[in-house]
This record gives sequence, structure tokens and C-alpha cells, in this order.
Amino acid sequence: MKQIAQLVLKSQKLKNDISGIENLIRAMLKKHGSPLMIIRRCVLEKQYNRFRKCLPEVTPYYAIKANPHPAIIKTFIKLGACFDVASANEMKQVLRLGASPSKIIFANTIKSEADIATARKRRVKFMTFDSEPELYKLAKHCPKAKVLVRIKVTNEGSVVELSRKFGADPDQAFLLLRKAKTLGLIPAGISFHVGSQSRNVENYIQALEISAGIFNEAKENGLRLKVIDIGGGFPIQHFDNELGINFERMASHIRKQIKELFPRNVKFIAEPGRFLVGPAGILVTQVIGRTFRDNKNYYYINDGIYADFSGMVFDHCKYEFKTLRRGQKFLSAIAGPTCDSLDTLSMNEEVPELYVGDVVYVKNIGAYSCASAVPNFNGFPPAKIILV
Ligand SMILES: *Cc1c(COP(=O)(O)O)cnc(C)c1O
Repeated sequence: MKQIAQLVLKSQKLKNDISGIENLIRAMLKKHGSPLMIIRRCVLEKQYNRFRKCLPEVTPYYAIKANPHPAIIKTFIKLGACFDVASANEMKQVLRLGASPSKIIFANTIKSEADIATARKRRVKFMTFDSEPELYKLAKHCPKAKVLVRIKVTNEGSVVELSRKFGADPDQAFLLLRKAKTLGLIPAGISFHVGSQSRNVENYIQALEISAGIFNEAKENGLRLKVIDIGGGFPIQHFDNELGINFERMASHIRKQIKELFPRNVKFIAEPGRFLVGPAGILVTQVIGRTFRDNKNYYYINDGIYADFSGMVFDHCKYEFKTLRRGQKFLSAIAGPTCDSLDTLSMNEEVPELYVGDVVYVKNIGAYSCASAVPNFNGFPPAKIILV
């Protein structure tokens, strides 16, 4: 009985959410036109607070590459967040908006000499690295930088694989940190990244175990490490009925492992990107043309793979297309506006019959979407971004 009541409640909540979102879409469309990326501040706050609540020992550094819109960064500054940047330009942007240099990690393991010098000048001294040649560059251009060695860890079950490009062999980690010390840098600890949209909590569990081994090895050799950076990768639900993604459960496993393996004085940080901004974004597009091909309706909308759906290429992401129109649904194709057939977004989408001007919208598209959009391919601009 109780379960049924809960289910009813859940579906009622979803219905209310949907009607709230649809009213928001209608109002914003009237005001701003389309394509339009609506970022909801309340969801940014909700995700940030969820992260803090589920992993209270872990300080989140928002990875701004997921969505570097100034209003988003400002929102996170207000919430007290720290930031993960990958270049001098990202660093300057975050600083310009008011973040303190002490709240930034420069977490690209390969940096240009000019970018390292900028970090020194701007007093951003917390960095990751994963190779010896990089240490010489850091020692030369930013002496006394506080460094974390990024280790290579399993990325199994993650949608975006990162271990092919980054990470030192764990058995070299201690040696690299010791070398950092002899070069006048401050060896602070370890970082890893389990790959983006990691559905497999085992990746974090294993990576923490490997890190604990390196901490012990360092301690036995007289080097006290203090920081573990568990990276990003925390997954979100892209579809309403997607199963198997449960951040709360994942976080409680991670917490348990942290408590089991490390003393209380070890400091933990993370670099969530997608988790903090993905659920906040709603992309609103409109049908600009329709035709009938290969036995199905084709709808052409005013945003595509070169712009706000770029995540389909770069982030290997799939999205759920929704409409404001109700009624019987037919298998249909949805394509973007450009003259490239790569710009086909779906060949089998269940949607009601649509007309020119009708809205097609996508939720949970705040991360890795507008961030990687081409400014004006074929003359089609990406969506206007608004925060509500
Ligand atoms: C991309 C990236 C992140 C953010 O990853 P998410 O999967 O979006 O959480 C964090 N850290 C580094 C080093 C990254 O490259």
C-alpha cells in the first residue's frame, strides 16, 4: 500500500514538474524567442546542496568547462564553491567574476609555460600534473606550487573515457611526488578522474584504494600527503525514466570508503562538472520545417549538432526530445537546421504530429552543450542563454 502511494506521489510530482517547466517554456519563449537555453538557478543550488549534503567531507570545485557562462559561475561563487580550471583563460574568467585564487585548482595536467606563468602571477598555486617533464616546467615558472599527482584509474562504465590520455602509473606516483619536493614544489597528494558520466561506483572505490596505498607508501618514506582529489564524473539522469543512476547511493559508498581508508585529517576535494549544471539546463527549440521521407515525418528544428546539441558528438550524449503538443505519438526523425546530414538528431523519436512553430525541448542539457557549440556554422547562431 505504502509503495503504491509513493509511486502515485512520484508520478504526481513528475506531472507537476512538467507543467511547471512547460509554463516556464511558454513564458520565456514569448519573451526571448528560440533557440533558447534556460538555466534554472534553483536547480544549480539544489545540485550544489545535494553534493554538499551527500559528501560533506568533500569540497566541490566546479569544473567550469561543463558550462562557463558567467552567471553560472557567479551563482556558484555566491554559494561558496571552489573552481576547477583547465587554462589561463578559464582561470582569468573565474577570477574576474570574483573568485578567490585560493579557491581555484588548475587541473589540466599538461599546461603551457605561458599559462603556468599566468597562474603564478594570479596566485593560483594549486595544480595537478602527471609526468616528470611537467614538474620541471612547474618548478621553473611557478616555484612552490602545491601539486597533486594525477594517477591513471579504471574508467569502466563511464560514458566519456579519460584514462587513455591522462594519468601517471600509480606505482610511479610516490616517486613523482618526491621529485616534486626536490624541485622545490609542495607535494600535496593525489588526484584521479574516473571518466565522465560514471555509472559505476566501483571506479571511485578502486581509485580510493589505490590512493590509500600511495599515501601509505609516501608515509613510510617520510612524505606526508594531505589531499585527495576524487575528480568529476558524477552521473546525472538525462531521461525521465532512466534507471541505475542514484547519486545518493553512490555518494554513500564513496563516503564509507573514505572513512575506512583514510585518517580524519586527510582533505578531500572533487571536480564535479556535469552533476552541478546538467540538470539545470532546458533547451527550447522550434520546428522550422517538416517533410515526409522514408515513411516517417521529419522535423527540422532551429538548433542542431553544431550548436547546442554538440554534446551528441563530443560528450557521446543522448537526449530526450519533448513537445508541448499532446496526442498520439509516431516514430519520427528530428534534424538540425544546417546543410549537413550529420546534423540529424534522432531517427526514431516518439513524438505527436508537429507543425511549423511547434516547440521541441530537451531537459538536463546544461552541461557540455552550449559550452562546445560552434558560434555560427552555416550562419545559425547557438541558443540565447538565460538564467531564471
Ligand atoms: C572534465 C573534467 C571534470 C568534470 O567532469 P564531469 O564528468 O563533468 O564531472 C573534472 N576534472 C577534470 C580534470 C576534467 O577534465
